[in-house]
Amino acid sequence: MEKRSLICIGCPMGCQVTVGMENGAVLSVEGNTCKRGDIYARKEVTNPTRIVTSTVVVEQGEKERLPVKTACDIPKTKIFDVMHDINRVRIQAPVHRGAVVLRNAGNTGVDVIATGSVEAAR
Ligand code: SF4
Repeated sequence: MEKRSLICIGCPMGCQVTVGMENGAVLSVEGNTCKRGDIYARKEVTNPTRIVTSTVVVEQGEKERLPVKTACDIPKTKIFDVMHDINRVRIQAPVHRGAVVLRNAGNTGVDVIATGSVEAAR
């Protein structure tokens, strides 16, 4: 049986979790302190995903950058494609929390949304 060691990122405790696998199937999960660790470990070894957080450039705003994040998890393998698209965004102020700043980031089908607001410069 193949064993994979992970650090759970579900909370600051950072439990060391060991996943037993065979032919791509999860046979066991050990070391997790709670159910979230079990869920995280099974997902991480079969279909790892992440929320991407970053910032985009704001034009004519009171601040130069706007904090953003993906609206939901994206496949870990698509992070560079998503960041490539995020880095090309130029958005006009004003822009408010919850606004969609980029659709279908990295061809994932997932939008990128503002997590803060930037008013227009005076
Ligand atoms: S297994 Fe539970 S307690 Fe341990 S790091 Fe993950 S979420 Fe936190």
